[in-house]
Amino acid sequence: RPGAQLAIRTVALGDERVFVVADDRGQALRAAESARDFMMNATHELKTPIGAISLLAEAVEGAADDPDAVAHFAGKISSEAGRLAALVRQILALSIIQGRPALASALPTDVDARVRDAIERCQTLADGREVSLTVSGQSGLTVFADPEQLGTAIVNLIQNAIQYSEVKARVVVTTKAVTDEGVDWVDIAVSDNGIGLSPDDAARVFERFFRADYARSRATGGTGLGLSIVQEIAEGHGGTISVWSKPGAGSTFTLRLPATKPGEEGQA
Ligand code: ADP
Repeated sequence: RPGAQLAIRTVALGDERVFVVADDRGQALRAAESARDFMMNATHELKTPIGAISLLAEAVEGAADDPDAVAHFAGKISSEAGRLAALVRQILALSIIQGRPALASALPTDVDARVRDAIERCQTLADGREVSLTVSGQSGLTVFADPEQLGTAIVNLIQNAIQYSEVKARVVVTTKAVTDEGVDWVDIAVSDNGIGLSPDDAARVFERFFRADYARSRATGGTGLGLSIVQEIAEGHGGTISVWSKPGAGSTFTLRLPATKPGEEGQA
């Protein structure tokens, strides 16, 4: 492009020399900036439970004569440690997904089997809140996806649908084949009749560490990374994730993935 400054890096791999040509310098700088932002946010998020654990440990020391108080603080330490573990797990999951091109491990994947498996993995959580989990739409669909990543994305969406709803809510997973501009896609939509999101919050839910409902997210062990992971998975497959929501009425998150290997449309 005229006027664009190219940032060209050379990476040596053993005897082979691989040339990595980044886009323009602006894009390289933006990528570095967003990596720095992520590190800052992650550090801030990790500091919260670490700080709480230090204070609680001091409280345990100060309450040595009172077994009930010790038990109380120990329980809190354990829950903050669990929170720390969840954050580390999600940060790791995000960086693994970012570092591995999804399409390299993608294959024709049976959507029904992945949805069934995801529902099974969320059943205990659903039972605890008396939420009904059902499936509707077309069956027998196939997507071109990494099966494990597809499972993670559906589980994250179902867990949110359960957690951001009142007890006895209804969560429905709907699968549908869609053709858009000549490309075949499969839509996997997870709908709930839960608390919903304001338009401003809906626009931000895919941001890393963003929580619209901070108190509930914290209480349920949320990290603010679940939807960022889903977005990373969608985009890694050339697909999309979108949200429709209305406060008090509920939300529908739709994951759209390619039905066939990109570039081989219509041949499956
Ligand atoms: P968290 O770990 O906090 O659930 P997510 O990235 O999965 O993080 O979601 C980000 C935020 O989006 C949540 O904290 C919550 O406020 C909001 N959210 C996600 N899913 C739903 C939903 N189905 N209904 C209402 N709000 C939701």
